[in-house]
Amino acid sequence: METQLIVKYEDKEKAKITGALWNPELKTWYAPRNSDLNIFRDWLPAESILLKPPIIILNGRKECWSCHNTTKIMSIGTDARIESTSNRTPIWIERNSFKLYYWIDFLPISVVNVIQTIYPTFQYIHSKSLGKKYWANTCEHCGRLQGDWELHNEPDNPFDILFERPNTTWQALEYELCFPIVAEMRSTRLRKIINI
Ligand SMILES: [Zn+2]
Repeated sequence: METQLIVKYEDKEKAKITGALWNPELKTWYAPRNSDLNIFRDWLPAESILLKPPIIILNGRKECWSCHNTTKIMSIGTDARIESTSNRTPIWIERNSFKLYYWIDFLPISVVNVIQTIYPTFQYIHSKSLGKKYWANTCEHCGRLQGDWELHNEPDNPFDILFERPNTTWQALEYELCFPIVAEMRSTRLRKIINI
């Protein structure tokens, strides 16, 4: 699969000479299929891993900590990803296991656009407790951040099967390219119930 590259406008000629191609629909540069990704590393964010579509969206609901209304929440997952070893000349390895991603520092804006067609409440928002911005759920009523720690690490979080979660559903979003993400990653046993 082709891999999305994050090329600044002033770098576009250099990327083109290196072999990057332009996708006019998504308005992004990408590395051709079966490329040596090390050649394109300048355009993959540091510490990013590459997610292979489809993007699996888990949908849930929770009570907002601020306004106490029930709000929609979601989490992004994939069945496969490509990770690099951290050597000087990294080796890129595909791993096949369902993972969820949270504390998302970086996500291509074209991927955000796809997600926001379903979840306009998915926003790049400042977290006081982390002291930085990240891509996260916000309340559909009051707009406040619904922090990822509670959604992914508390024992009654909505994206596990430790508790019954009849309101948690899932959907798959198609996306043309393998794309970089900078985030934490975790497993969930919910997958076995929803049978992705
Ligand atoms: Zn709220």
